[in-house]
This record gives sequence, structure tokens and C-alpha cells, in this order.
Amino acid sequence: MNFTLKAKFNLAITSHHKHTHQRPLKIIMKSKIIPSLLILLGAGLLISQNPKGENAPNGAEEKIAQAIPAAAHAKPAAPRKMLLFSATAGFRHQSIATGKIALAELGKKTGAYETVVSDDLANFDADKIKQFDVICFLSTTQDVFTPKDIKKLSPDEAKSAQEKSLTYRKNLMEFIESGKGFVGIHAATDTLYNWPEYGRMIGGYFDGHPWNAGTEVQIDVEKGQEKHPLAAMFDGQSMNFKEEIYQLKDPYSAKRQHLLLRLNVEKSAKVGGLKRKDGDYAVAWARHQGKGRVFYCSLGHNHEMYWNPKILSHYLAGIQWAIGDFKAEVTHTID
Ligand SMILES: [Zn+2]
Repeated sequence: MNFTLKAKFNLAITSHHKHTHQRPLKIIMKSKIIPSLLILLGAGLLISQNPKGENAPNGAEEKIAQAIPAAAHAKPAAPRKMLLFSATAGFRHQSIATGKIALAELGKKTGAYETVVSDDLANFDADKIKQFDVICFLSTTQDVFTPKDIKKLSPDEAKSAQEKSLTYRKNLMEFIESGKGFVGIHAATDTLYNWPEYGRMIGGYFDGHPWNAGTEVQIDVEKGQEKHPLAAMFDGQSMNFKEEIYQLKDPYSAKRQHLLLRLNVEKSAKVGGLKRKDGDYAVAWARHQGKGRVFYCSLGHNHEMYWNPKILSHYLAGIQWAIGDFKAEVTHTID
């Protein structure tokens, strides 16, 4: 049993999201004053007040406010509530801070939904989860349902934590399959490798990002989907910008989801490390899971994604479709 757990843990580490960015300028600049602050406040207090120095860049709120669509894609049939969950057990994106603002404001300003921004696992308890219409995993990484310090816990506490983790998985899957919504943004596919049903539900697992954050890429609307409600905001136009783009591995299959956006390999900067023989680098899709609806978009590494008007409109369409308020035909040949 111990051996199995260890093997799984190692597997999770090897598939870790490998990022190479520098720490943000703000942190570097502050570093000169940090030693004196540490003496005054103690490291614990400083860290708890500002975990990982996570802040949206200056001006982000204004740019997001200007980019939010004027109206929701559909009038909500009832007041809707979204859990915005961005816990990380592996790499933590600086852009989570920006994504939190954008996704919460998107619901608030358009009236599409109210957002509960929380990484509290208690929200996945059976009596709590039912208050939500949709759960969004924003750049979550690795095993978010197991406490990071599990190795430091007593055997009894560790056993209890493991059991809880299994309960959260079960409750999340039952929530979706009962007819509710799940939305994954960016690293949500770099999450829960040790739970294959999660990979099938979201539609694939992260397999590196040959296109780094600073790579010029072209994102196309999937051919034939130009008028699809979840992609119509792009007017069939491609997007060109710098963004980190994922390569996906099993259980990813174009047959298991309704594709909406994909990377144009030819028109993007040439990169190494491409593993897919089929050249299929899907970026956004929708799929059914039981009676529920799942929307995923891998855009969301760079802060700028969260104030791109078309991408915000795309996220909103995906969220409202996942909730069940925005109608769109989503078909795939494998469940
Ligand atoms: Zn990333």
C-alpha cells in the first residue's frame, strides 16, 4: 500500500508543470526591504498576508472592467452561484490573482452568476457543494484534494485526510453528473493525475507546453464552429498573441469533446518538444459528463488573457453553458 502511494506520488512529480518564468519584478524590488520587515513581523505573518506575492498587475482591474461584455449571453433562469477554486499542490500561476478578479467580475457585471472565491475544501462536502451551479478550477495543479503536509500528519490523520480526499472526488463527480457544470481554465488539466476519472471528465491531461508564455502563437476557431454559440464571439477570426499553449495527452481525444479553439501549429512560432503525431493541439472544448456540462479553455497563463474582450466573452459563454442557462449543441462520439 505504501509502495503504491509512493509510486503515485512520484508519477505526479514527474508530470509537474515545468515553468521557467522569472519572479515578478515587484517581488525583486521589494526584496531589499524584506529582511528588516522579517525582523519586525516574523516570516509567518508576512507569508500569510501575501501568499507567494500573488497580486494582479497594476491597472488590471480597469483593463478587466473595460473588457467585460456588456451583457450576459443568456438571462439566468434563476440566481446562479459559481465556486471559483484555485488551490495548487504544484506550480502556482501568478495570473491566478488576475483570473480571480476577471471571472468574479464577469459574473457580477453581467448578472450571470455570483462567485464564491474559495480554496476551502469544505466546499466539496456534500451539504456545501449543492449550493453551487458550477465549479470552476482556475489554474489548479496536482492533487488539490490532499493536504500538502500529509507526510507530516500522524498515521490516523493521514488516513482521515486520504478518506476525505476520496469523498471530495466522489462529491465533485456526482455534482457534475447530476446535471451541474464544471469549468476548467488553463492548468485545470495539470491537476489530479492520480484520479483518472477527472482526466476523462475534463477531457485530457497536460503534457508540457512546447509554446512558452512569450511565444507568438495563432489560435484558430475550430473549422465549422465559427457560428457555434461558444465560439461565435470570435467571428471566425484567428487570434495572434503571446501565450503559453499546452500539449495534451490521454485521455485527450478529439472524439471525446466538441472542439471550439485550436492552436495553428504552422502559423505559430516554431518550437521543439512536440509529441503528438496527429498534430492535434486543441485549446478549448465542451463536453457532456453524465447529465452535466464541462467547458475547458487552456488560455489563461498570461495576465493579458484576462482582459482580452473576446476571451472573456468565451469564458462567459462556457460558464453560462455549463450552468445550463446558455443553450448550445455540444456533440461528441465518445462519452
Ligand atoms: Zn501556465
